[in-house]
Amino acid sequence: MNISNCDLPDISVSHSNLTVVEGDRVTAICNGSGSPLPEVDWPVNGLHSVTAQENNTVHSIKITLVNVSRDDNNFLLTCTATNIVGMTNASVQLTVHFPPTIVKLKEPERRHDTCIEFTVRGSPHPTLRWFYKDKEISHTEYVRPDMDIYQDYVEGCLTFKNPTHHNNGNYTLEATNYLGAASSTVYGHFLDKPFDDWSPCPPLYQTHKPVEDTFGVSIAVGLAGFACVMLVVLFLLINKYGRRSKFGMKGPVAVISGEEDSASPLHHVNHGIISPCTLDAGQDAVVIGMTRIPVIENPQYFRHGHNCNKPTTYVQHIKRRDIILKRELGEGAFGKVFLAECYNLSPTKDKMLVAVKTLKDPTLAARKDFQREAELLTNLQHEHIVKFYGVCVDGDPLIMVFEYMKHGDLNKFLRAHGPDAMILVDGQPLQTNGELGLSQMLHIASQIAAGMIYLASQHFVHRDLATRNCLVGNGLLVKIGDFGMSRDIYSTDYYRVGGHTMLPIRWMPPESIMYRKFTTESDVWSFGVILWEIFTYGKQPWFQLANNEVIECITQGRVLERPRLCPKEVYDIMLGCWQREPQQRLNIKDIQKMLFTLMKATPVYLDILG
Ligand code: AMP
Repeated sequence: MNISNCDLPDISVSHSNLTVVEGDRVTAICNGSGSPLPEVDWPVNGLHSVTAQENNTVHSIKITLVNVSRDDNNFLLTCTATNIVGMTNASVQLTVHFPPTIVKLKEPERRHDTCIEFTVRGSPHPTLRWFYKDKEISHTEYVRPDMDIYQDYVEGCLTFKNPTHHNNGNYTLEATNYLGAASSTVYGHFLDKPFDDWSPCPPLYQTHKPVEDTFGVSIAVGLAGFACVMLVVLFLLINKYGRRSKFGMKGPVAVISGEEDSASPLHHVNHGIISPCTLDAGQDAVVIGMTRIPVIENPQYFRHGHNCNKPTTYVQHIKRRDIILKRELGEGAFGKVFLAECYNLSPTKDKMLVAVKTLKDPTLAARKDFQREAELLTNLQHEHIVKFYGVCVDGDPLIMVFEYMKHGDLNKFLRAHGPDAMILVDGQPLQTNGELGLSQMLHIASQIAAGMIYLASQHFVHRDLATRNCLVGNGLLVKIGDFGMSRDIYSTDYYRVGGHTMLPIRWMPPESIMYRKFTTESDVWSFGVILWEIFTYGKQPWFQLANNEVIECITQGRVLERPRLCPKEVYDIMLGCWQREPQQRLNIKDIQKMLFTLMKATPVYLDILG
């Protein structure tokens, strides 16, 4: 049956959206029309704001929200029109603006990867800023905010990757929108300050701090001076009476250092003695005290010549008169290194160029170590290990004779063939040395890997692999050239030293730093650092950090960043060397294979050197 003038009501509302600031009042009107005329209503179930409704007519109704509540943000106000036929409705979307509040700001838990959890409410969504010790935090890989945005709140985390005690302190979160701002502070305690006693010469570390009174300065300088003198005397005593290898063997009271130039990590000694007070942030090794360390010697190694399994090692003796020194090449940990001519060494040549390492005024113990090291070197023979010819022990100084590697140590070489290197003539830049390319870098790395495979096969842990301890000869030939800290670990799984020593921490994995555990796997870690050195043209690892910061970074799990010029595939090898778990690190044979594969994909240009 068709009944005329009998339809569903029409309905209209004054707004489709209403935006209002919390606490304000707002009005909406709803009109119903049709036949039969409908009744209109604003049902307000679930609304938090106080309302007042006013009927203009039975068909028009006005709703006023008094003291609008933030809890009604996004509320859909619905008006209904009902007649005998049925009901229609229309809605108004309510948006309530209100200033931000910080609902939650939670202290971070003491974990490696952790966060400060927060919840902030505000409409419109507030802008968030974080401050640490009153300075705004810029987002980095190590500290960054992560958040999820909901209707009128933001929930998230200020996330820390491997925080250290340097991250301890007050963190302030500031939330702002056009209606106001809120801020709240929480103290983040991640780690206690470690290694307080590791600082070699604390007063000198603080020389850059302003000091006001000169009397205080004099006392401080006097005390610092006295402390340094005492340490040097102590060091000399240890040097004299302590038993150690003098020939690059940076063992028991190992001395490895860097030059004053923080950018240069070459190890050297100032005339055979390093004052621990001269060490600074830029150097390669850290003095961790001055006492002699007990060394767990490897019985296999020290029974050389006396056991039935290994043949006696005959170290070749070279006559002093056959060695003619030509010029100084450098300064090693325990003496000067010279270029020399050596007669009667080669059956085919009358004389040949050699590098000789000298040791002046050795103690009896030093002589023994010298002999032991000579035996060790005599037994190591490989195309990527520097060739050892023999010793000269008739008179002073004691001498070790090595093959001469024309281009010196690899670190210097890398720097000389980096983007910043210039050949200076009369102080004027003349030409560049020629920058190393990718294929050459891979070639260098694969040769060191070859030397390391050999060392591992001989059950040797080097413990001080770094570009400064590799040498470069003709035709980009690279060899491992210094066995300062190496030891035979023939029958033990790893080599461990205790007590205090100086260690090349920037090249060391966490377990070597924390527990003095040196293994073939820790050598692999160092190889990763060597790769990094190669791809940065000889930069010092962690050059931007002081030694104690380096210790923290490494032990907390941070690794060096990918060098600018380093392909991802190579950085992946580095990361494979820097796995925290030693067993999970790549093995050196696999590394060499990976390098070969990369080299095949990169044409080799060996045109850099004659
Ligand atoms: P080392 O005592 O091994 O640290 O040597 C000190 C410096 O002498 C190195 O940094 C090299 O520059 C140089 N040197 C050492 N051995 C050789 C070598 N076999 N051929 C050429 N230069 C060498």
